[in-house]
Amino acid sequence: MSRVPTVNALTVDVEDYFQVSAFAPFIARSEWPQRECRVERNVERILAMLQAHDAKATFFTLGWIAERYPRVVRQIVAQGHELASHGYGHERASDLTEDAFFADVDRAKRLLEDVGGVGVQGYRAPSFSIGSGNLWAFDGLARAGYRYSSSIYPIRHDHYGMPDAPRFAHQVRAGLLEIPVTTVRWGGRNFPSSGGGYFRLLPYALSRWMLRQVNERDGQPAIFYFHPWEIDAEQPRVAGIDAKTRFRHYLNIGRMPGRLEQLLGDFSWGRMDEIFLCPRAH
Ligand SMILES: [Zn+2]
Repeated sequence: MSRVPTVNALTVDVEDYFQVSAFAPFIARSEWPQRECRVERNVERILAMLQAHDAKATFFTLGWIAERYPRVVRQIVAQGHELASHGYGHERASDLTEDAFFADVDRAKRLLEDVGGVGVQGYRAPSFSIGSGNLWAFDGLARAGYRYSSSIYPIRHDHYGMPDAPRFAHQVRAGLLEIPVTTVRWGGRNFPSSGGGYFRLLPYALSRWMLRQVNERDGQPAIFYFHPWEIDAEQPRVAGIDAKTRFRHYLNIGRMPGRLEQLLGDFSWGRMDEIFLCPRAH
């Protein structure tokens, strides 16, 4: 066994705990500026972990965060990671009109480019909210100048998902790729295998096995995602939320840093643009 290991794509959706879509019914957008902000220190912890493992990642960052915490954006860029867009205000693409979606992704791209001083090529929709009902979103992304999106989750889920979508990178518009997050296929069904709540729910060994299946059986790089708030066991608890939301958000949060360390050691990790985009002609 002397094969060069596949480089997988590590992705971080840079938002704070109070911006999570599942909390939207409980925390008004107008309250965001008054909430204790935890994202800076959490991103700094992530950057230190990546540096210790010599890993690179893509940070899909909210324009709202970049505007208020430019230092964190500059740290991401300075340490050789890819700066990408998570939109401006974390509204689900499926809740917006075409015009409002374009305005959001265009504003976020320009703001991130100004703050980071680099080109932004990638976009991830909040809560994987591009699916069969709003594929027009790809027109807006192409028009805003993005080169890839990683916004479709080819599974069935109560909040998102497009189970019949292709599982791997495919061209959706001229000059625009969709690179769906990773699933493992068993018995004609796709199972989520790329992070988020599932990574905290399942035993680590099962997550590792699923990622290896994608590398070895499908011969494809995997895409893993997590959020800065997922490593923050001390985050303020949001009051008044329902049991399912509480379970999904806080489950095994204390174990997450240790599991991430294992994941960083067991695989080799890189940026989305370097793994999936052909180098530009010079
Ligand atoms: Zn998000």
